[in-house]
Amino acid sequence: MVPLFFTDVELMPLRGSPIFRDRNKLSPYYIPERLPHRDQQMELLYSIYGNMIRNIGNVYPRFTQIIGGTGTGKTCTTLKFGEKITEHAKNEGVNLQHVYVNCKVDGATRFVLFGNLVKKVTPKISTRSLSPEEMIRQLVDCLRAEKRFLIITFDEIDYFIQTNPKEHVIYDFTRIPEMHPGEPSPVIGEIFIARSLKWHEMLEPSEKSTLGMGIMEFPRYTGRQVMNILEERATEAFNQDAVADEALGLISDITANPPVNGDLRVGLELLYYAGCLAENMGAERVLPDHIRKVYSETNPAVTSEDIMNLDEAGKLVLLALVRSLQAKKSAYVGLRDARLSYEVLCEECGVKPIDEFEERMQDLIRRGIVEMKSLTEFGVSGASLVDLEKFLNNLIQQLR
Ligand code: ADP
Ligand code: MG
Repeated sequence: MVPLFFTDVELMPLRGSPIFRDRNKLSPYYIPERLPHRDQQMELLYSIYGNMIRNIGNVYPRFTQIIGGTGTGKTCTTLKFGEKITEHAKNEGVNLQHVYVNCKVDGATRFVLFGNLVKKVTPKISTRSLSPEEMIRQLVDCLRAEKRFLIITFDEIDYFIQTNPKEHVIYDFTRIPEMHPGEPSPVIGEIFIARSLKWHEMLEPSEKSTLGMGIMEFPRYTGRQVMNILEERATEAFNQDAVADEALGLISDITANPPVNGDLRVGLELLYYAGCLAENMGAERVLPDHIRKVYSETNPAVTSEDIMNLDEAGKLVLLALVRSLQAKKSAYVGLRDARLSYEVLCEECGVKPIDEFEERMQDLIRRGIVEMKSLTEFGVSGASLVDLEKFLNNLIQQLR
């Protein structure tokens, strides 16, 4: 969500902001040192993998699944855990790496996904001419030769499985440790992150059984918890007293209740853009009115992170849809209109239109960005709830 006034922010003089201490601390990519209300999950991960370090040459790999709604801290908790456990391993003289693979960003197909995984571990393997199986084999051999160990996290695995139901990656992944049977594996753990257990329906029974029962839940944050978390983030990002308590309270209410349902990404974005607005208006503090204004012009269903994760073709298809929605002044348009607008847009940008327009639209639906009301009605998720024109204008700015 990017409100209209966002572009004006750049016009602010460069002297210190009266509002922000460090606005980067609200970026979706920044992970704070402490993650309140996720201690239990962190400890559980530690209890599974922490004990392996002392005995690293003799351990058998463990698979863990993490399940929870959007914005419940699955990604940041796992990344933090990865940081801590590699540090702990280093202190014990063990060369352990946590490799994080986001299946939405790193893998359109099995070939691309495996190639990216290998690239994150070593520059020594050239994956271009290798089959996915051979990539994994060489990866394991390389790790063994270099006495290195891995924990691999596959984030958004449900998205990948739904997009590629015939590529049995879970079979491949869970077999990695078995490449040298009877011998300890250099891959000591794999963590699979998904929004719910629904993706299990797409698996073969054998895949499901090797995945095992290690399932950890990340419950939705309550209003009180959102408040605690945002208070800590605000302390890092804002000057002292620059955010009114009532403003934080309002964001926490909005975040914890429907339609946002505890998605902390939305809370953080609201806080960020309300801060920008307050600064732009020359206010001394962020007040509930700033929050209300930002919220009325944005849409919790689509956040900046969702947009940033799209590749060029994805962005163009979405932009084309947004444009045809605007032209029609309607919350939904047909696929044909969207495609026409896509062709015009490609010509404007000097890009060759892709043939898989419909597939890309399907992909946007799976990502939760586009909503299909019927076969002839496509819209942007949540856009019918907000002031359509303002919201779509914001989205266009963001897509550019
Ligand atoms: P998920 O992967 O479950 O969708 P994320 O881990 O991406 O959620 O979290 C969404 C955003 O909220 C991130 O910017 C993250 O830093 C922040 N966040 C989530 N949980 C916490 C927490 N307990 N404390 C501080 N920030 C958090
Ligand atoms: Mg995530």
